[in-house]
Amino acid sequence: MLAERVKKIKPSPTLAMDAKAKALKAQGLDIVNFGVGEPDFDTPEHVKEAAIKAIRDGFTKYTPVGGIDELKEAIVQKFKKDNNLEYTKEEILVSCGAKHSLYNIAQALYGPGDEVIIPSPYWVSYPDQVLLNDATPVFLKTYEEDSFMLRPDILESKITKKTKAIILNSPSNPTGLTYDKKTLQAIAEIALKRHLYIISDEIYEKLVYDGTEFISIASLGKEIKDRTIVVNGLSKSHAMTGWRIGYAAGPKDIIKAMTNIQSQSTSNPTSIAQKAAVAALTGPHDFISVMHAEFDKRRRFLVDGLNSIEGVRCLKPTGAFYAFPNVSKLYGKKTGARQINSSLDMAMYLLEDANVALVHGEAFGDDNYIRISYATSMENIKKGLERIREALSRLA
Ligand SMILES: *Cc1c(COP(=O)(O)O)cnc(C)c1O
Repeated sequence: MLAERVKKIKPSPTLAMDAKAKALKAQGLDIVNFGVGEPDFDTPEHVKEAAIKAIRDGFTKYTPVGGIDELKEAIVQKFKKDNNLEYTKEEILVSCGAKHSLYNIAQALYGPGDEVIIPSPYWVSYPDQVLLNDATPVFLKTYEEDSFMLRPDILESKITKKTKAIILNSPSNPTGLTYDKKTLQAIAEIALKRHLYIISDEIYEKLVYDGTEFISIASLGKEIKDRTIVVNGLSKSHAMTGWRIGYAAGPKDIIKAMTNIQSQSTSNPTSIAQKAAVAALTGPHDFISVMHAEFDKRRRFLVDGLNSIEGVRCLKPTGAFYAFPNVSKLYGKKTGARQINSSLDMAMYLLEDANVALVHGEAFGDDNYIRISYATSMENIKKGLERIREALSRLA
């Protein structure tokens, strides 16, 4: 008999969609994959070299649980330089990916009876990590007309005596939208007044567009910094998804608890990947500008293309590498025996009829949308857009 907690969760729907697309591809079908959640760029050469050197030097043994000093120091410097945030090494924990950092937070903070507020649409792992730790996710709906930023008055109305924390993700996966300073200030005020922790997932920090300023909520003042745990990592900024390096920064007692938890599960993140992460954080940053420019170009092309399709409406994303178009105007329409009534119907139709893979919005908590990742070549984006246009024109 499996444990009760297993029944509460589902496998990551984004990874499941990706697997389905890859399976069709393996059968020989020409699939345009808009489902991916990772950069299509290669890890920078100097980062790979640092890892190879680490292997050659025999840096292949256990390290301190929470990461090597050299990497913690590089992270401290990164926060100072990029976010105007001062942390000490005792306030940093390096984990096996940002997802693992988030899981360590969930284990350290959430328990039976606790409520954790999750603005929706949300990244798929937040609710399940709350559930795995016997707490209750409380969803807070956000709206397209607010650029998917939460409304502070709705936030207030969701807070109870049991509310422990709120999870923020800006720039957001799946919406591609970024929080502005005014809204972050309003959230910080409420969090302080109601004694909430803020978990701030900043993994897409480096990917903001149209002159959007990235602001970490922790940088808004000493008080809010003491209530915030910032999560970040190398997966998206340096195309290092497979290396599994993420980190958290926050109050010493929470970081210590998370480190103890990590010491009883994974121990340290891979020694070699830690050396690679040092090179990524301290080395040349031109890689990020090249990737950023390419994402920006694709973003404009994709969003303009989507908005030119009848029945599709898409906000211009200001961050990450996703577009999140509203396709609900097409619900109720048919082609042949097939009727589209939901985002899953839409995703299945586009996969099976147009050979375009993407993720249904319902997986992120909003059935009116689909998520399209532009972490794929311009050529694929052009091809995929035309296929979507053609398939949707057949709906009546
Ligand atoms: C990709 C992603 C992560 C996880 O990153 P890893 O460091 O690879 O674990 C966390 N949060 C969001 C919103 C993401 O999209």
